[in-house]
Amino acid sequence: LSAVPAIEATRAEKHGKGRTLAVPGRLPVLPSAGSLDDRFGRRIHYLRISVTDRCNLRCVYCIPNDMEWLRKGEILSYEEIARLARIFTGAGVRRIRLTGGEPLVRSGIERLVRALGSLPELEDLALSTNGILLAAHAESLREAGLRRVNVSMDSLDAGKFAAITQGGDLGKVLEGIDAALAAGLRPVKINVVAARGFNDSEAADFARLTLDRDVVVRFIEIMPLGDSREFQADRFVSADEIIERIREVGPLDPCDDVTGSGPARYFRMRGGRGTIGFITPMSHTFCETCNRVRLTAAGQLRLCLFGDDEIDLRTPLRAGADDHELERLIRFGMTVKPESHHLQHGMAGCGLRALSQVGG
Ligand code: SAM
Repeated sequence: LSAVPAIEATRAEKHGKGRTLAVPGRLPVLPSAGSLDDRFGRRIHYLRISVTDRCNLRCVYCIPNDMEWLRKGEILSYEEIARLARIFTGAGVRRIRLTGGEPLVRSGIERLVRALGSLPELEDLALSTNGILLAAHAESLREAGLRRVNVSMDSLDAGKFAAITQGGDLGKVLEGIDAALAAGLRPVKINVVAARGFNDSEAADFARLTLDRDVVVRFIEIMPLGDSREFQADRFVSADEIIERIREVGPLDPCDDVTGSGPARYFRMRGGRGTIGFITPMSHTFCETCNRVRLTAAGQLRLCLFGDDEIDLRTPLRAGADDHELERLIRFGMTVKPESHHLQHGMAGCGLRALSQVGG
């Protein structure tokens, strides 16, 4: 049996593409209400834009080793992203986050930040990064109009960090965090994917970072995605367990003074400068209060992180659609955004292979 060759995955399978929704030939004429509401009455005001599917790290739970990247021409140009962002903000989006892949590996990202920063309706412009290139960009990003950053950092131990990222340099990330603070990007949030047997023993060390640094450390439950189920098996650590570990170091008081539009619970260590948050997509779903949609690097409007349905905006955009047509497509998306994703442990929610494909 071992001689039977493995079936070669098709390019789409390797890339784990979403399912492009057929849009009715004649879209209903939807009133431009100045806000984007879906059919369940949720107000969608938050857009996450993936600027590239590529990354300079290979976190073992995130990017499969045989990932097939988008080709250059498949990725939206900065001008195309900025145009869509203008239409989204005109329709009701108020917050944008740039993500990926790793947004700082795309050259000239400041040009996009500047274009988005000038959108009159936009109230918040943020970026998610692994921090490796942040020290070199923090100042210019701030100057271009970026308000804040989230930095992903799963270990404070250089060896473990290099292992989980397959080669990443923890020192560069720590430098990047300090550069972001020095540049006045606020708040700086540090996202830690909690994994049993890997970094659960570091919960208190991460919490101590908030004692003298004005940062927000957020622990995120690992989600069962794509090919990394091998790593994810038995890695789940609940927020309650992490809270208990931190309480061994000192008292933790609930607080709610953190900027953002995400579904996190926040605490502060007594006397600490920063805060500690918990994002629990597995143990508490947030679908009822979902306020977001995603634009993939390939120009697909993804309606739910764990639902495969996408609306192709790139084809009409490149075929000369005017702003009204594109806005109608976006509004059509609101009529088909799913109510919830029913993500459960041991069960991949969808055909998604990695968050890098859609902008995690
Ligand atoms: N490169 C940027 C970064 O590192 O933040 C943005 C993209 S990365 C895909 C966004 C976040 O998704 C990271 O914090 C990463 O740890 C998280 N992530 C990726 N796969 C995940 C999974 N299976 N469960 C939970 N979080 C995941």
